[in-house]
Amino acid sequence: MSLELIVGPPNSGRAGEVLRRLRAALEREPLLIVPTGDDIARFERDLCADGNPAVGATIRTFSSLSDEIAAATAARIPPRLSQPQRLALMRAATAATRLRVLARSARSPGFATALDTLVAELQAALVSPADLRAAAAAMPGEAAQELELAELYEAYERLRDGAGRSDSGSVAAAAAAALRQDPGSWGNRPVLIYGFDDLTEVQLELLRLLAATCEVTVAVNYADRKALAARAALLLRLRDELGATTAEDLHFDRGYTARKSLAHLDRELFEPAAERVPADEGLRLLESAGERGEAESVGLEIARLLAAGVEPDGIVVALRRPAVDGPLFASVLRGQGIPVALQAELPLVETAVGRSLLAICRAAAPGGEPADLLAHLRADPSVAPGAIDWLERAVLRGEAESVADVAERWETPPRHLTRILEAPGPAARVAALAVSARRLAEAAHRERAPLAGERSAGVPLDAIELRAGVAAAELLEELALVGGLPGCPEPDLADGAEALEAAGVRAWQGSVEGRVRIVSPYRVRAGRATHLFCAGLQEGVFPGRGAIDPLLGEAARADLGIPALRRREQAEEERYLFHVCASRPVERLYLSWRSSDEDGHPAPRSPFVDEVLDLVGDGSDAAEEAMTQVRGLARSVPAVREASTARALARAITLTAGPDAERRRELLGALGTDLATSGDVMALCDGIPAADSLPGPLRNPAVLAELGSRRLLSANSLEGWIECSYRWFVNHELTPQRLEPEPDPLWLGGVVHDALERLYSEPPGADSIPRPADVQRWQERFDELLGAVVAERDSPATPDRRLALERLRVQVRAFLATEAQGTSRLRPRPDLLEQSFGFEEEDGPAALDLGDFALRGRIDRIDIEPDGNRALLRDYKISKKVPGAAQMSKEGKLQLQLYMLAAEAMGLEPIGGYYQPLGAYGDRRPRGIVRKDECSEDGLLDGLEPPVRGDAIDPEALDEALDEARGLAIANGSRMRTGDIDRDPLEGSCPKYCTFQAICRLERAIGLEPETENGE
Ligand code: SF4
Repeated sequence: MSLELIVGPPNSGRAGEVLRRLRAALEREPLLIVPTGDDIARFERDLCADGNPAVGATIRTFSSLSDEIAAATAARIPPRLSQPQRLALMRAATAATRLRVLARSARSPGFATALDTLVAELQAALVSPADLRAAAAAMPGEAAQELELAELYEAYERLRDGAGRSDSGSVAAAAAAALRQDPGSWGNRPVLIYGFDDLTEVQLELLRLLAATCEVTVAVNYADRKALAARAALLLRLRDELGATTAEDLHFDRGYTARKSLAHLDRELFEPAAERVPADEGLRLLESAGERGEAESVGLEIARLLAAGVEPDGIVVALRRPAVDGPLFASVLRGQGIPVALQAELPLVETAVGRSLLAICRAAAPGGEPADLLAHLRADPSVAPGAIDWLERAVLRGEAESVADVAERWETPPRHLTRILEAPGPAARVAALAVSARRLAEAAHRERAPLAGERSAGVPLDAIELRAGVAAAELLEELALVGGLPGCPEPDLADGAEALEAAGVRAWQGSVEGRVRIVSPYRVRAGRATHLFCAGLQEGVFPGRGAIDPLLGEAARADLGIPALRRREQAEEERYLFHVCASRPVERLYLSWRSSDEDGHPAPRSPFVDEVLDLVGDGSDAAEEAMTQVRGLARSVPAVREASTARALARAITLTAGPDAERRRELLGALGTDLATSGDVMALCDGIPAADSLPGPLRNPAVLAELGSRRLLSANSLEGWIECSYRWFVNHELTPQRLEPEPDPLWLGGVVHDALERLYSEPPGADSIPRPADVQRWQERFDELLGAVVAERDSPATPDRRLALERLRVQVRAFLATEAQGTSRLRPRPDLLEQSFGFEEEDGPAALDLGDFALRGRIDRIDIEPDGNRALLRDYKISKKVPGAAQMSKEGKLQLQLYMLAAEAMGLEPIGGYYQPLGAYGDRRPRGIVRKDECSEDGLLDGLEPPVRGDAIDPEALDEALDEARGLAIANGSRMRTGDIDRDPLEGSCPKYCTFQAICRLERAIGLEPETENGE
């Protein structure tokens, strides 16, 4: 009958005109088509706004138009394929088609999903497989890939028809055919289209057919402006190809807002040579640091608006990528007490349920890794994290090497894994996965997984997790049945994983009434806002670069010569979307961006901000500053007046007033909070430590009593204390457990010490040290012993450890060869190898008495003169370098000196002590302190390698060094026993290998270098 247009730019009253026409046609049961469910709700509200509900109109989204036509024309529509069924047919089509160019991509996960998207696009563009093949054949140059795509497309449609099923493409085609055949079946029911900036070929065809039988009215958002250039094509096609006439040519209504700046932006944004208008209350700029900082900044502004009485429904946060950036904004705003709805489809596998399902798919499949099972458990909210830590520890230490090993460590078999593995076939496994989907979502609230313990009690209801559970279950249930479709093999877990990875879940479902909405610019184009925050305005994000089709790139689309497959010019599209954001608010537009990331690295803002600043204000820096609210990295705590929750207020007040309770009360009083709130906030303030409070010294009486009661300390522990008393406290007292295996230096040290002790205890030659004639036997015996010690260890030799051990084996062989050249009379006494003192349970010598406490330890080796008691102490280190006399004093090394004192107490006469650097290359000389007189001719050290300069000292100096060490040990042992810990690294510099900053709260880069210790 007719196709009429209502043409006008944003804010020209198109929605009002559509509503007027809808009301006027109520008797003929008009059908209004709008873009989203929100738009349906808005129009339904508007239809009832005057208290006189309009009955008779139907409001739908475009996807329902084919169904409405099919129902009216009684077209026979076969049952529709579900999404998993479509994907299964895509896979079957791929398997049935001989591919060459696409063969490799077809084997990669995600191919079926990409093909499904392309086929849906081709169907909507009314491009048949034959059209695509013909266009490909006519393409200039190589078209093998496009020809293969045409084959795949045709194979899919053949399989679909063979299965007696339909999809949205075939439903639209069937509806159009039925309408073509019997135009009168639609009757004179008017159709109105509102809120679309673009229509696909199939949609245009349906409108053309409808226009032949009824009144069709399309509202087109257009005016001859640069911002709307992306939409010019639609108007042109409606007029030129469908013969539409303009019924209403509406003009921009400047009165939609009282803010001159907003009306000016709507009208002039992106127009060349546009004038400026003075800045007013219509525009605010928010510059923040870091993603969270930006979300907090936006949240604080919204909290202010809500406090001032603005309705939350009128506030919109527009993000170019709501599925990417929206979750953080939603969580920050929720934390600030703001009712919020994130309207975005999130990847299913980003929910805990989705992650857990995907991981168990992998764990249960052949070749599943223990890490997959751990990931499944970690994402299951009903399993206690502590229990998984122990499992992870076992995996990292090589104690559980397969999924079965991990499963065996549970008291009860892991139920989801067991259910899947016990299923009788591939499809049954997918069905079992569907059962797990529901149970995982419910478990935190209703059931408990084997390790859940008390954790599931009080877990808050998480709607998105429940939705994800239902969505995944439905998806997998349908997938389990696709084996019934012709050409489709039974699905297995790999198909389940692919389906889960391609699926999405709505972040919000239900009414958004009473909530601030976080949306994409596409979702605000048909609506209005009082205050709109256009956030995330970063270079590269908004304007964005557009998605790239993995199967049909831009060049191929151009070469195919099918206009409907050409993508819109991305720059025009981005300008259009930014204009949407700028033209929707009637009170204020906020433009928000980050000047840096969380670490302070600069982040450039979007050029769109400058486009706006070219139109509003006088262009000076001062004008921009006046419009901008800056919130830098230092503002991690809000100002007192900005705090939107009791906790934020307590932090703000504590930061301002410190511990001064009176001042805190004054600040609270100035805010006019009620008594109950003030009480809560004051209580929270008391729980916040002062900003300058630092850990230590220890104060707990029970802890102090326990430390004070210690009578036995070790030399090793004292050295650790001197290195940094706080580090000693964490390492020695808190003893954090590592998830990963013991660090290699510790493991290596333990193994080598053990092997050397056994070697010298039962020498493989006539002498107690290697001699030139038997050194080879010593070396071979050492190799044997090393292998035996490794085999006896609980913690396994990983490939890295084996490599390090091999290197060290070579070094120890060299050490034995050097020792074989020595002519000294000193010999290790087998009964003094690994000699301990102060260990009551070992029945050895007594502890070294140091007054209020005593010292115990274990000396690696003591070499004694024949028939005498002069002794040289040796301490094996697996490091390359060891300290000499000067360094020992500088670095607070006490061990050798204290061991010499202990040897004295055993009745020996120490002539020195050496650290033996077993890991050294080239210069393997030991370092330490020895008596100079024993190094001269006929001295006991004559015949050993000459000492390094400075390590040989006079006998009196050695006595002094021992006395000094005793004094140092007494002073530090006394401090240790009173719990006087502090962050006091030796010489004010933390060792690189210390990773306890998070505990001692010292702000510096975390040391990453591994600890080099000797294994004691
Ligand atoms: S980081 Fe420094 S201050 Fe902190 S425990 Fe380690 S060594 Fe001590």
